[in-house]
Amino acid sequence: MSESLFDQASERLADAIAHVRISEDAIERLKSPKASLQVSIPVRMDNGSLKVFQGYRVRYNDLRGPTKGGIRFHPNVNMDEVKSLAFWMTFKCAAVNLPFGGAKGGVAVDPKQLSKFELERLSRGYIDAIADFMGVDVDIPAPDVQTNQTIMGWMVDEYSIIQRRLCPAAITGKPISMGGSLGRDTATGLGAFFAIETLLPLLKMQREQTTVAVQGFGNVGAAIADLLSKAGYRVVAVSDSKGGIYAKQGLDVPSIIRYKNSTRNFQAVYCQDSVCNIVEHETITNEDLLKLDVDILIPAALENQITEGNAHEIRAKYIFEIANGPVTPAADKILEKMGIVVFPDILVNAGGVTVSYFEWVQNRSGLYWTIEEVNDRLKQSMVAETLRIWAIAQQKQISMRTAAYVHALTRLSEAIEAKGTSDYYVQ
Ligand code: NAD
Repeated sequence: MSESLFDQASERLADAIAHVRISEDAIERLKSPKASLQVSIPVRMDNGSLKVFQGYRVRYNDLRGPTKGGIRFHPNVNMDEVKSLAFWMTFKCAAVNLPFGGAKGGVAVDPKQLSKFELERLSRGYIDAIADFMGVDVDIPAPDVQTNQTIMGWMVDEYSIIQRRLCPAAITGKPISMGGSLGRDTATGLGAFFAIETLLPLLKMQREQTTVAVQGFGNVGAAIADLLSKAGYRVVAVSDSKGGIYAKQGLDVPSIIRYKNSTRNFQAVYCQDSVCNIVEHETITNEDLLKLDVDILIPAALENQITEGNAHEIRAKYIFEIANGPVTPAADKILEKMGIVVFPDILVNAGGVTVSYFEWVQNRSGLYWTIEEVNDRLKQSMVAETLRIWAIAQQKQISMRTAAYVHALTRLSEAIEAKGTSDYYVQ
């Protein structure tokens, strides 16, 4: 496919514009990023050699507040991907009404090939390289694929060293001991869970009769599988980059998490000890998982998983996107014709950035919340915004994705109009 990821992301905007009253000024402002930075990060390796990694940070739009977005460590990271992810963050923050714009960052690296010390030097080097581009009121990074609390801890420490004062609010997703928020680690999964729970009665479904397949078993995939299975849904399949497992009767998700945490691989979980005897299971590929006949399919790995190449083979009734951009625009059209409803990433995975916002607020006020306060506020926000987007979709007879963009675009447009000068020129 010749279309870049950013071209695909921009198609979402074009689809939504047709359903919103929005000025030409606002459309122009949203078509390109405010600022993009590419940096070279020299890292001293453990064997004494020097290696230079490419890093990126894009601040897409800050009309609703400082920009916000995660940092990804993955070999395929490039400017097109980071720009697209920053675009999605802009719409996500607006869709759930956070006072933030959108950003994203990343380093082209396979972190699994680095020692812990090399990873720390790379993480600190990335912050050294982008320090003038970020800041508490400017741009606030957070974790994304293959980055975590520990890495955020190194990064916020490095930023504080550069600034010569403690700056906990400069990065979210930190360890609790450095000012992290309770509940941030499970927030994306829990936010998705609240969205699913809000929609379930509207879709006339019941938990116990609902089968689920989850692609990706990292920070968010494991969290949503766990939450759903504990709530009574039948999680029948999970997978990670090495492959997946399927059991018609439902999987024992807590055992898989325990096993994965201890071995970093879950394919063998059903050949271990007593778990082996609990349910029958099959080993499946990632491609098989996407094609399972389930009620809910949850892509929670990477972008571009459901494309025009495999969309015809999807048999799930509903797709909840926890990964960013797992369904391409071409696939969206095919799925819509097949009657498969897609609940979009900018709503479903917004729980992570919502609790990141809570973390930033707590750091700035110095008043820290209980886990109940964090989760209650997250629930309030996810339920309210899910219902608003559902109402727009029903009222305008458009897809949930277009409705989410319409909702976000309305808020972005108001901010753009408020700061613009078109009133002086247009009668
Ligand atoms: P992670 O690195 O913790 O996990 C990614 C998982 O996907 C791993 O289990 C990996 O093995 C698996 N994977 C990779 N390629 C795969 C493939 N082809 N098939 C199946 N599985 C594959 O990352 P994460 O933080 O869980 O993020 C996952 C997705 O969710 C990303 O798209 C990310 O942008 C999005 N997201 C994450 C957060 C967050 O708070 N972490 C918030 C919003 C959105």
